[in-house]
Amino acid sequence: MANRNQASPAKKPAFWSDNIAGASPEIIEALAACNFGQARPYGADEGTASVERKLSELFEREVSVLLVPTGTAANALSLAALTPPWGSVLCHRDSHVNNDECGAPEFFTGGAKLVAVDGAAAKIDVDALRIAARTKVGDVHTVQPSCVTITQATEVGSLYSLDEIRAIGEVCRSSKLRLHMDGSRFANALVALGCTPAEMTWKAGVDVVSFGATKNGVPAAEAIVCFDTALAGELAFRRKRAGHLFSKMRFLSAQIDAYLSDDLWLRNARQANAMTARLVQGLKAIPGIDVQGEPQANIIFCRFPRALIEALLAEGFGLYHDRWGPGVVRLVTSFATTADDVDLLLERARHIVGGLSKDDLGSANEGHTA
Ligand SMILES: *Cc1c(COP(=O)(O)O)cnc(C)c1O
Repeated sequence: MANRNQASPAKKPAFWSDNIAGASPEIIEALAACNFGQARPYGADEGTASVERKLSELFEREVSVLLVPTGTAANALSLAALTPPWGSVLCHRDSHVNNDECGAPEFFTGGAKLVAVDGAAAKIDVDALRIAARTKVGDVHTVQPSCVTITQATEVGSLYSLDEIRAIGEVCRSSKLRLHMDGSRFANALVALGCTPAEMTWKAGVDVVSFGATKNGVPAAEAIVCFDTALAGELAFRRKRAGHLFSKMRFLSAQIDAYLSDDLWLRNARQANAMTARLVQGLKAIPGIDVQGEPQANIIFCRFPRALIEALLAEGFGLYHDRWGPGVVRLVTSFATTADDVDLLLERARHIVGGLSKDDLGSANEGHTA
Protein backbone atom coordinates (compact mmCIF):
# COMPACT_ATOMS: atom_id res chain seq x y z
CA MET A 1 0.00 0.00 0.00
CA ALA A 2 1.15 3.52 -0.75
CA ASN A 3 2.61 5.53 2.08
CA ARG A 4 -0.12 7.64 3.74
CA ASN A 5 1.89 10.80 3.02
CA GLN A 6 1.89 10.13 -0.70
CA ALA A 7 -1.77 9.22 -0.88
CA SER A 8 -4.19 11.60 -2.56
CA PRO A 9 -6.18 13.83 -0.16
CA ALA A 10 -9.40 11.99 -1.07
CA LYS A 11 -7.93 8.70 0.11
CA LYS A 12 -9.91 7.22 3.00
CA PRO A 13 -8.33 5.43 5.95
CA ALA A 14 -7.78 1.69 5.65
CA PHE A 15 -8.38 -0.94 8.30
CA TRP A 16 -7.00 -3.99 6.47
CA SER A 17 -4.34 -4.86 9.00
CA ASP A 18 -1.87 -3.31 11.43
CA ASN A 19 0.97 -3.96 9.00
CA ILE A 20 -0.27 -1.33 6.53
CA ALA A 21 1.07 1.42 8.79
CA GLY A 22 4.61 2.71 8.44
CA ALA A 23 6.98 2.75 11.38
CA SER A 24 7.22 4.98 14.44
CA PRO A 25 9.45 8.01 13.73
CA GLU A 26 11.52 7.19 16.85
CA ILE A 27 12.51 3.90 15.25
CA ILE A 28 13.41 5.43 11.92
CA GLU A 29 15.56 7.94 13.83
CA ALA A 30 17.24 5.13 15.72
CA LEU A 31 17.99 3.38 12.43
CA ALA A 32 19.61 6.52 11.07
CA ALA A 33 21.51 7.04 14.33
CA CYS A 34 23.00 3.55 14.28
CA ASN A 35 24.31 4.12 10.76
CA PHE A 36 27.62 5.57 11.99
CA GLY A 37 30.98 3.94 12.34
CA GLN A 38 31.56 0.24 12.61
CA ALA A 39 29.76 -2.45 14.53
CA ARG A 40 30.61 -6.10 14.95
CA PRO A 41 28.54 -8.33 12.66
CA TYR A 42 26.14 -11.25 13.17
CA GLY A 43 24.77 -10.10 16.51
CA ALA A 44 28.08 -9.39 18.26
CA ASP A 45 27.26 -5.66 18.20
CA GLU A 46 26.66 -3.61 21.33
CA GLY A 47 23.03 -2.97 20.27
CA THR A 48 22.15 -6.65 20.29
CA ALA A 49 23.65 -7.07 23.75
CA SER A 50 21.64 -4.07 24.91
CA VAL A 51 18.41 -5.57 23.52
CA GLU A 52 19.08 -8.81 25.39
CA ARG A 53 19.67 -6.85 28.60
CA LYS A 54 16.51 -4.83 28.13
CA LEU A 55 14.40 -7.92 27.45
CA SER A 56 15.91 -9.69 30.47
CA GLU A 57 14.92 -6.72 32.61
CA LEU A 58 11.48 -6.57 31.11
CA PHE A 59 10.82 -10.28 31.64
CA GLU A 60 12.42 -10.21 35.12
CA ARG A 61 14.83 -13.06 34.40
CA GLU A 62 17.74 -13.94 32.17
CA VAL A 63 16.53 -14.56 28.63
CA SER A 64 18.27 -15.45 25.38
CA VAL A 65 17.23 -13.40 22.39
CA LEU A 66 17.52 -14.02 18.66
CA LEU A 67 16.41 -11.29 16.30
CA VAL A 68 14.80 -12.21 13.00
CA PRO A 69 13.08 -10.15 10.31
CA THR A 70 9.63 -11.79 10.19
CA GLY A 71 7.09 -13.33 12.51
CA THR A 72 6.95 -16.44 10.39
CA ALA A 73 10.69 -16.96 10.92
CA ALA A 74 10.30 -16.36 14.66
CA ASN A 75 7.45 -18.89 14.92
CA ALA A 76 8.88 -21.58 12.65
CA LEU A 77 12.38 -21.44 14.16
CA SER A 78 11.01 -21.46 17.71
CA LEU A 79 8.80 -24.46 16.99
CA ALA A 80 11.74 -26.25 15.36
CA ALA A 81 13.69 -25.89 18.60
CA LEU A 82 10.79 -27.37 20.59
CA THR A 83 9.77 -30.28 18.36
CA PRO A 84 11.58 -33.26 16.86
CA PRO A 85 10.77 -34.13 13.21
CA TRP A 86 8.51 -36.94 14.45
CA GLY A 87 6.70 -34.61 16.83
CA SER A 88 3.44 -32.75 16.60
CA VAL A 89 2.76 -29.10 17.27
CA LEU A 90 -0.64 -28.61 18.88
CA CYS A 91 -2.07 -25.33 17.66
CA HIS A 92 -5.47 -23.72 17.22
CA ARG A 93 -7.19 -24.47 13.94
CA ASP A 94 -7.43 -20.74 13.14
CA SER A 95 -3.85 -19.92 14.11
CA HIS A 96 -1.37 -18.10 11.93
CA VAL A 97 1.06 -21.04 12.13
CA ASN A 98 -1.66 -23.34 10.82
CA ASN A 99 -3.05 -21.10 8.09
CA ASP A 100 -0.70 -18.33 7.12
CA GLU A 101 2.88 -19.55 7.16
CA CYS A 102 2.99 -21.60 3.97
CA GLY A 103 4.22 -24.69 5.75
CA ALA A 104 7.22 -22.94 7.33
CA PRO A 105 6.70 -24.65 10.71
CA GLU A 106 6.55 -28.06 9.02
CA PHE A 107 9.59 -27.18 6.88
CA PHE A 108 11.78 -25.82 9.68
CA THR A 109 10.89 -28.63 12.08
CA GLY A 110 11.93 -31.13 9.44
CA GLY A 111 8.40 -32.42 8.93
CA ALA A 112 6.71 -32.28 12.31
CA LYS A 113 2.93 -32.32 12.01
CA LEU A 114 0.68 -29.44 12.98
CA VAL A 115 -2.31 -30.85 14.83
CA ALA A 116 -5.27 -28.50 15.06
CA VAL A 117 -7.08 -28.16 18.38
CA ASP A 118 -10.41 -26.37 18.57
CA GLY A 119 -11.74 -23.81 20.97
CA ALA A 120 -13.97 -20.74 20.92
CA ALA A 121 -12.66 -17.32 19.84
CA ALA A 122 -9.50 -18.78 18.27
CA LYS A 123 -8.30 -19.93 21.70
CA ILE A 124 -7.26 -23.51 22.38
CA ASP A 125 -9.78 -25.20 24.66
CA VAL A 126 -7.90 -26.67 27.60
CA ASP A 127 -10.00 -29.86 27.76
CA ALA A 128 -9.51 -30.50 24.05
CA LEU A 129 -5.81 -29.87 24.57
CA ARG A 130 -5.64 -32.37 27.42
CA ILE A 131 -7.01 -35.04 25.07
CA ALA A 132 -4.72 -34.10 22.18
CA ALA A 133 -1.71 -34.09 24.51
CA ARG A 134 -2.36 -37.75 25.39
CA THR A 135 -3.30 -39.05 21.97
CA LYS A 136 -1.20 -42.05 20.93
CA VAL A 137 1.72 -41.11 23.15
CA GLY A 138 4.37 -43.80 22.78
CA ASP A 139 2.78 -45.26 19.63
CA VAL A 140 5.62 -45.55 17.14
CA HIS A 141 3.18 -45.25 14.25
CA THR A 142 2.09 -41.73 15.19
CA VAL A 143 3.69 -38.32 15.54
CA GLN A 144 4.35 -37.57 19.20
CA PRO A 145 2.78 -34.52 20.88
CA SER A 146 5.79 -32.29 21.52
CA CYS A 147 4.75 -28.71 21.92
CA VAL A 148 1.81 -26.37 22.06
CA THR A 149 1.62 -22.94 20.49
CA ILE A 150 -0.87 -20.26 21.51
CA THR A 151 -1.36 -16.84 19.96
CA GLN A 152 -1.61 -13.81 22.25
CA ALA A 153 -3.51 -11.70 21.18
CA THR A 154 -5.29 -14.21 18.94
CA GLU A 155 -5.96 -13.95 15.25
CA VAL A 156 -9.52 -12.75 16.00
CA GLY A 157 -8.44 -10.18 18.58
CA SER A 158 -9.44 -12.18 21.65
CA LEU A 159 -7.12 -12.70 24.61
CA TYR A 160 -6.14 -15.65 26.75
CA SER A 161 -6.60 -14.62 30.38
CA LEU A 162 -3.69 -15.34 32.72
CA ASP A 163 -5.71 -18.21 34.21
CA GLU A 164 -6.22 -19.69 30.74
CA ILE A 165 -2.51 -19.48 29.93
CA ARG A 166 -1.66 -21.04 33.29
CA ALA A 167 -4.12 -23.88 32.66
CA ILE A 168 -2.50 -24.59 29.29
CA GLY A 169 0.92 -24.33 30.91
CA GLU A 170 -0.18 -26.88 33.48
CA VAL A 171 -1.30 -29.35 30.79
CA CYS A 172 2.06 -28.84 29.07
CA ARG A 173 3.96 -29.45 32.29
CA SER A 174 2.07 -32.60 33.16
CA SER A 175 2.32 -33.97 29.62
CA LYS A 176 5.96 -32.92 29.10
CA LEU A 177 5.13 -30.59 26.21
CA ARG A 178 6.94 -27.32 25.58
CA LEU A 179 4.87 -24.14 25.28
CA HIS A 180 5.38 -21.47 22.63
CA MET A 181 3.56 -18.16 22.37
CA ASP A 182 3.06 -16.40 19.04
CA GLY A 183 3.26 -12.84 20.32
CA SER A 184 2.89 -11.10 17.03
CA ARG A 185 0.57 -8.76 18.98
CA PHE A 186 2.20 -9.31 22.37
CA ALA A 187 2.07 -5.62 23.36
CA ASN A 188 -1.61 -5.27 22.44
CA ALA A 189 -2.44 -8.23 24.67
CA LEU A 190 -0.21 -7.07 27.51
CA VAL A 191 -1.67 -3.58 27.81
CA ALA A 192 -5.21 -4.94 27.49
CA LEU A 193 -4.65 -7.43 30.33
CA GLY A 194 -2.68 -4.95 32.40
CA CYS A 195 -0.29 -7.62 33.60
CA THR A 196 3.50 -7.94 33.47
CA PRO A 197 5.37 -9.63 30.60
CA ALA A 198 6.58 -12.25 33.09
CA GLU A 199 3.05 -13.08 34.23
CA MET A 200 1.84 -13.52 30.66
CA THR A 201 4.72 -15.86 29.77
CA TRP A 202 7.20 -17.87 31.83
CA LYS A 203 5.32 -17.52 35.10
CA ALA A 204 2.40 -19.20 33.31
CA GLY A 205 4.59 -21.91 31.77
CA VAL A 206 5.66 -20.42 28.42
CA ASP A 207 9.12 -21.56 27.23
CA VAL A 208 9.63 -19.39 24.14
CA VAL A 209 7.89 -16.28 22.81
CA SER A 210 7.87 -14.83 19.33
CA PHE A 211 7.98 -11.26 20.59
CA GLY A 212 6.40 -9.30 17.77
CA ALA A 213 7.23 -5.72 16.94
CA THR A 214 6.48 -5.23 13.23
CA LYS A 215 2.72 -5.04 13.70
CA ASN A 216 3.22 -2.37 16.36
CA GLY A 217 5.48 0.23 14.80
CA VAL A 218 8.75 -1.43 13.80
CA PRO A 219 9.82 -1.67 10.12
CA ALA A 220 11.06 -5.26 10.18
CA ALA A 221 12.24 -6.99 13.34
CA GLU A 222 10.91 -9.58 15.75
CA ALA A 223 12.60 -11.19 18.73
CA ILE A 224 12.66 -14.87 19.65
CA VAL A 225 12.79 -14.72 23.45
CA CYS A 226 13.86 -17.96 25.16
CA PHE A 227 13.22 -18.42 28.88
CA ASP A 228 15.08 -21.70 28.63
CA THR A 229 18.41 -20.14 27.66
CA ALA A 230 19.79 -23.56 26.73
CA LEU A 231 17.69 -23.36 23.55
CA ALA A 232 19.68 -20.41 22.22
CA GLY A 233 22.68 -22.44 21.10
CA GLU A 234 20.60 -24.66 18.85
CA LEU A 235 18.50 -21.75 17.63
CA ALA A 236 21.62 -19.86 16.56
CA PHE A 237 22.47 -22.64 14.12
CA ARG A 238 18.87 -22.98 12.98
CA ARG A 239 18.61 -19.25 12.30
CA LYS A 240 21.79 -19.20 10.21
CA ARG A 241 20.82 -22.35 8.33
CA ALA A 242 17.45 -20.73 7.54
CA GLY A 243 19.20 -17.69 6.08
CA HIS A 244 17.86 -15.41 8.79
CA LEU A 245 21.13 -14.41 10.48
CA PHE A 246 21.67 -10.77 9.49
CA SER A 247 25.31 -9.79 9.17
CA LYS A 248 24.45 -6.13 9.81
CA MET A 249 22.48 -7.08 12.89
CA ARG A 250 22.81 -3.56 14.28
CA PHE A 251 19.92 -2.55 12.04
CA LEU A 252 17.63 -5.12 13.64
CA SER A 253 18.83 -4.46 17.18
CA ALA A 254 18.42 -0.69 16.76
CA GLN A 255 14.76 -1.23 15.87
CA ILE A 256 13.98 -3.36 18.92
CA ASP A 257 16.07 -1.16 21.19
CA ALA A 258 14.10 1.94 20.16
CA TYR A 259 10.84 -0.01 20.33
CA LEU A 260 11.52 -0.84 23.98
CA SER A 261 12.78 2.64 24.89
CA ASP A 262 10.57 5.16 26.70
CA ASP A 263 7.68 2.66 26.64
CA LEU A 264 7.18 3.26 22.91
CA TRP A 265 5.96 -0.33 22.46
CA LEU A 266 3.35 0.11 25.19
CA ARG A 267 2.26 3.55 24.00
CA ASN A 268 1.82 2.24 20.46
CA ALA A 269 -0.23 -0.71 21.63
CA ARG A 270 -2.43 1.48 23.83
CA GLN A 271 -3.17 3.73 20.88
CA ALA A 272 -4.08 0.78 18.64
CA ASN A 273 -6.31 -0.76 21.30
CA ALA A 274 -7.96 2.56 22.14
CA MET A 275 -8.84 3.06 18.48
CA THR A 276 -10.46 -0.37 18.37
CA ALA A 277 -12.45 0.43 21.52
CA ARG A 278 -13.60 3.70 19.94
CA LEU A 279 -14.59 1.89 16.77
CA VAL A 280 -16.47 -0.84 18.65
CA GLN A 281 -18.41 1.68 20.69
CA GLY A 282 -19.44 3.53 17.54
CA LEU A 283 -20.25 0.42 15.51
CA LYS A 284 -22.46 -1.04 18.23
CA ALA A 285 -24.69 2.04 18.02
CA ILE A 286 -25.30 1.64 14.27
CA PRO A 287 -28.38 -0.41 13.31
CA GLY A 288 -27.69 -3.46 11.14
CA ILE A 289 -24.09 -3.85 12.34
CA ASP A 290 -23.32 -6.84 14.50
CA VAL A 291 -19.98 -6.80 16.36
CA GLN A 292 -18.81 -10.35 17.06
CA GLY A 293 -17.42 -11.22 20.47
CA GLU A 294 -15.88 -8.58 22.71
CA PRO A 295 -12.80 -7.21 20.91
CA GLN A 296 -10.13 -6.70 23.57
CA ALA A 297 -7.06 -5.80 21.55
CA ASN A 298 -6.89 -4.18 18.09
CA ILE A 299 -8.89 -6.51 15.83
CA ILE A 300 -12.65 -6.43 15.26
CA PHE A 301 -14.82 -8.96 13.47
CA CYS A 302 -18.32 -7.82 12.63
CA ARG A 303 -21.15 -8.24 10.17
CA PHE A 304 -22.13 -5.38 7.93
CA PRO A 305 -25.13 -5.16 5.64
CA ARG A 306 -23.97 -6.02 2.12
CA ALA A 307 -24.89 -2.56 0.82
CA LEU A 308 -22.78 -0.93 3.54
CA ILE A 309 -19.69 -2.93 2.59
CA GLU A 310 -20.11 -2.00 -1.03
CA ALA A 311 -20.70 1.68 -0.31
CA LEU A 312 -17.67 1.98 2.01
CA LEU A 313 -15.43 0.28 -0.54
CA ALA A 314 -16.75 2.56 -3.27
CA GLU A 315 -15.89 5.57 -1.09
CA GLY A 316 -12.32 4.31 -0.78
CA PHE A 317 -12.20 2.82 2.72
CA GLY A 318 -9.97 -0.22 3.08
CA LEU A 319 -11.35 -3.30 4.81
CA TYR A 320 -11.29 -7.05 4.34
CA HIS A 321 -14.67 -8.74 4.00
CA ASP A 322 -16.25 -12.09 3.19
CA ARG A 323 -13.05 -14.10 3.78
CA TRP A 324 -14.45 -15.41 7.03
CA GLY A 325 -18.06 -15.80 6.00
CA PRO A 326 -20.70 -13.84 4.09
CA GLY A 327 -20.91 -10.25 5.27
CA VAL A 328 -18.12 -10.71 7.82
CA VAL A 329 -15.80 -7.71 7.96
CA ARG A 330 -12.46 -7.54 9.75
CA LEU A 331 -11.20 -4.17 10.95
CA VAL A 332 -7.73 -3.75 12.43
CA THR A 333 -6.35 -0.61 14.04
CA SER A 334 -2.69 0.22 14.59
CA PHE A 335 -0.52 2.66 16.52
CA ALA A 336 -0.90 4.98 13.51
CA THR A 337 -4.71 4.91 13.44
CA THR A 338 -6.12 8.24 14.61
CA ALA A 339 -9.42 9.18 16.21
CA ASP A 340 -10.18 11.11 13.02
CA ASP A 341 -9.72 7.92 10.96
CA VAL A 342 -12.14 6.08 13.21
CA ASP A 343 -14.66 8.91 13.36
CA LEU A 344 -14.68 9.28 9.60
CA LEU A 345 -15.48 5.60 9.12
CA LEU A 346 -18.21 5.76 11.75
CA GLU A 347 -19.70 8.92 10.33
CA ARG A 348 -19.83 7.51 6.79
CA ALA A 349 -21.22 4.18 8.05
CA ARG A 350 -23.98 5.97 9.99
CA HIS A 351 -24.82 8.06 6.97
CA ILE A 352 -24.90 5.09 4.57
CA VAL A 353 -26.95 2.92 6.93
CA GLY A 354 -29.41 5.80 7.37
CA GLY A 355 -30.21 5.59 3.67
CA LEU A 356 -30.71 1.82 3.54
CA SER A 357 -34.05 0.04 3.32
CA LYS A 358 -35.15 -2.42 6.01
CA ASP A 359 -34.33 -5.28 3.63
CA ASP A 360 -30.79 -4.00 3.02
CA LEU A 361 -30.24 -3.60 6.75
CA GLY A 362 -31.26 -7.19 7.43
CA SER A 363 -28.57 -8.52 5.11
CA ALA A 364 -26.02 -8.43 7.96
CA ASN A 365 -27.60 -11.61 9.22
CA GLU A 366 -27.49 -13.53 5.95
CA GLY A 367 -25.74 -16.80 6.54
CA HIS A 368 -25.64 -16.17 10.29
CA THR A 369 -25.44 -19.64 11.76
CA ALA A 370 -25.09 -19.26 15.50
C1 LIG B 1 1.38 -11.11 11.29
C2 LIG B 1 1.40 -12.30 12.14
C3 LIG B 1 2.57 -13.07 12.27
C4 LIG B 1 3.84 -12.78 11.52
O1 LIG B 1 3.71 -12.67 10.17
P1 LIG B 1 4.91 -12.26 9.19
O2 LIG B 1 4.18 -11.75 8.01
O3 LIG B 1 5.70 -13.47 8.90
O4 LIG B 1 5.75 -11.23 9.87
C5 LIG B 1 2.52 -14.15 13.13
N1 LIG B 1 1.43 -14.44 13.84
C6 LIG B 1 0.29 -13.71 13.76
C7 LIG B 1 -0.89 -14.08 14.59
C8 LIG B 1 0.24 -12.63 12.88
O5 LIG B 1 -0.89 -11.93 12.81
